[in-house]
Amino acid sequence: MNIKKTIKGAETLVAPFFKAYDEIAEKNTEKIIKAMQKYKLSDMHFAWNTGYGYDDPGREITEKIFAEVFGMEDAIVRPSIVSGTHALSLMITGLVRPKDIFLSITGKPYDTLDQVLGFKKSKSYSLKDIKYYYKQIDLLPQGGLDLTAIHSALMNKPEFMYIQRSSGYEWRRALTVGEITEVITICRVISPKTIILLDNCYGEFLEEAEPEADVMAGSLIKNPGGGLAVGGGYIAGKKEYIERIAERMTVPGIGKECGLMYGQTRNILQGLFMAPSVVAASVKGAILSAKVFADLGYEVSPKYDQPRSDIVQSIKLKDKDKVIKFCQAIQSASPVNGHVMPMPWAMPGYNENVIMAAGAFVQGSSIELSADAPMKEPYIVYFQGGLTYAHAKIGIIKALEAIYN
Ligand SMILES: *Cc1c(COP(=O)(O)O)cnc(C)c1O
Repeated sequence: MNIKKTIKGAETLVAPFFKAYDEIAEKNTEKIIKAMQKYKLSDMHFAWNTGYGYDDPGREITEKIFAEVFGMEDAIVRPSIVSGTHALSLMITGLVRPKDIFLSITGKPYDTLDQVLGFKKSKSYSLKDIKYYYKQIDLLPQGGLDLTAIHSALMNKPEFMYIQRSSGYEWRRALTVGEITEVITICRVISPKTIILLDNCYGEFLEEAEPEADVMAGSLIKNPGGGLAVGGGYIAGKKEYIERIAERMTVPGIGKECGLMYGQTRNILQGLFMAPSVVAASVKGAILSAKVFADLGYEVSPKYDQPRSDIVQSIKLKDKDKVIKFCQAIQSASPVNGHVMPMPWAMPGYNENVIMAAGAFVQGSSIELSADAPMKEPYIVYFQGGLTYAHAKIGIIKALEAIYN
């Protein structure tokens, strides 16, 4: 196979789709600049603070800017939130109370939340111990929300409706902002008091606006950190909910008034500024891989011309060996740890062995070029990220070489 020619041909055909994502990146960049200007971001906000961190102007402006950008009243943005799972766990455990009904409308939430929701035993207490009611509605077999089932479940006026935007490690497409908006509108009519929670991981800046949930959470080493945040997470939402979550995060009575940024304010905000362009670069890589692998006869999700709402590209390689080769090729295209050979291993929080290729400047960052796959049938590789389009393209070329040469 002439790989260079294959790539060149595919690139020409997908160019119009690239343009659409450049335009979204422009709109989001503009929104971010406006938010930074509104609160008069200046160099003094990048200074360090120590101790309790009372009145840290850098932390306060960061949280205001994130709230504004995500279209919310308030936000928590901290380097001390260790991951997306931690941000989601704070969001959920900060709000759910005994006897509440928690309705997940996108199937089972992301695997790493199993112990938070009490599906598996944990060493600390989980939500199971406070006796809440978990209800789940699966996505339709062809993808998309089961609106009929959701409609009737909302008649019971659940306290929470939980939405996961991204596909996660599932063979399904991400929900678009339009689909999420539709179900939110239905919920607000049938059960206006239901608090709408959103796992926004991998979805940020894929469209011009974020979904209008009541609270959303995500990771700073995915989309919104733009590859520059060295860690952390965010939770954005209505003020009253953010206050409750903040009391869970620190201490009742203290909430978000304390907590250091450890000198990360500049990285986090510069990362946010870069994020729309970085997301566009990684989506272009995803589109290119979708086109190339579909032309080679593999099932891909989403297809190159389908609407996207997260940065993940799933490719059904249907072969354990190809999955391992694909991931090893992505690793070998990495600027960091390019010499390392990833192998499938038992990762905490996941049910099967997982192979992960991530030669990232920030450990585990999946807005950087990365690929991962649970070692199970039908051997799907999940490919995402790329701080630049050039890197994503190089990764795809290496993967093709590994599988075909
Ligand atoms: C990555 C991810 C999470 C968890 O984030 P971590 O930072 O890996 O803990 C949760 N939900 C979705 C949809 C994700 O993609």
